[in-house]
Amino acid sequence: MEARAWMEVDLAALWGNYLFLKGRAGGEVIPVLKADAYGHGALPLARFLFQRGVRRVAVATLAEGRALREGGVEGEVLLLGSLHPLEAEEALRWGLTPTLSTLEAARALAERARALGLLPRAHLKVDTGMNRVGFPWEEAAMALKAVEALGVRVEGVYSHLATAGEDAAFVEVQKGRFLEVRRALGEAYFYHLENSYGLLLHGGENVRVGLALYGLVPGFGLRPVLRLLARPTLVKRLKAGDRVGYGGEYVARGGEWLATLPVGYADGLPRGAVRFVRGPGGGLHPVAGRISMDQTTVALPGPLGLEAVFEVLSPDFGPTGLVAWAEARGTIPYEVAVHLSRRLPRLYL
Ligand code: PLP
Repeated sequence: MEARAWMEVDLAALWGNYLFLKGRAGGEVIPVLKADAYGHGALPLARFLFQRGVRRVAVATLAEGRALREGGVEGEVLLLGSLHPLEAEEALRWGLTPTLSTLEAARALAERARALGLLPRAHLKVDTGMNRVGFPWEEAAMALKAVEALGVRVEGVYSHLATAGEDAAFVEVQKGRFLEVRRALGEAYFYHLENSYGLLLHGGENVRVGLALYGLVPGFGLRPVLRLLARPTLVKRLKAGDRVGYGGEYVARGGEWLATLPVGYADGLPRGAVRFVRGPGGGLHPVAGRISMDQTTVALPGPLGLEAVFEVLSPDFGPTGLVAWAEARGTIPYEVAVHLSRRLPRLYL
């Protein structure tokens, strides 16, 4: 049992979300576990998902892929970040599937594979309108030919949506371009396109999903997976005029109680955006004053013991949920999730 502060990761909720998304997609759902699975813990989630029969997962970087291998994960791991030529050898040695966006990287992969006696396998990234990485979609057939001529086995071809959830018309433009690419390249490859909002709002076949898998998209019956709990390290009564925390911003009316919780912005609580926490009885209590690096003070109507458990982050879309934090902070849930600190222990339930 954790004493101070910890996160609970609800694997049943994660699996429920996965099955919901699988039901929506016509084909394969690739869980996106980059950035430590958006703060949920990539290694335990990869182990869980492969045990449940998921065929492959995706991470962003070589280091993230290596961490899964070092943790004993043997399943197919796609590296979403375009391969840098200098990474080719390590990607091969760890049996990770790189993404190719350039011929330089394809050449390096083929050369290193020859030297090591390994088979160079990869997915080809096609740029259908985001203009960030990928071979231009109009040149996809030529790029594929050139990559295959180097001896690389291209197993998958994919693109990424720039405006899912924002500009439906442009999503359709990208989908149309991707379909043209698919027609030109033929059915010998595994094609994947949509992300969470792409799938939920536009449908999809083979998809790569992060945010929706973690239940951080409201309105579809998905369930957030993360919960952050903490016990107070101090509970005391305030006198009228007592000032609390940095800047003395909270000034006590007098008679209220204060609980100090051992979590702060270093744990990933966005300053100014966490306004309430849930008490043991389920009621909302306002954060009193500024959030510190390691501590947060909460105003209570009455005393509580140090055994009391407060829900700092709730697995819902209410005022103590992650989506509400992101909105209050003026950012996206992705950013808040990936900043939840590794120093909080994660319990997998
Ligand atoms: N595919 C790629 C290439 C990505 O970079 C990401 C994450 O941004 C995803 C899929 C998953 O996106 P989402 O979390 O919106 O489902």
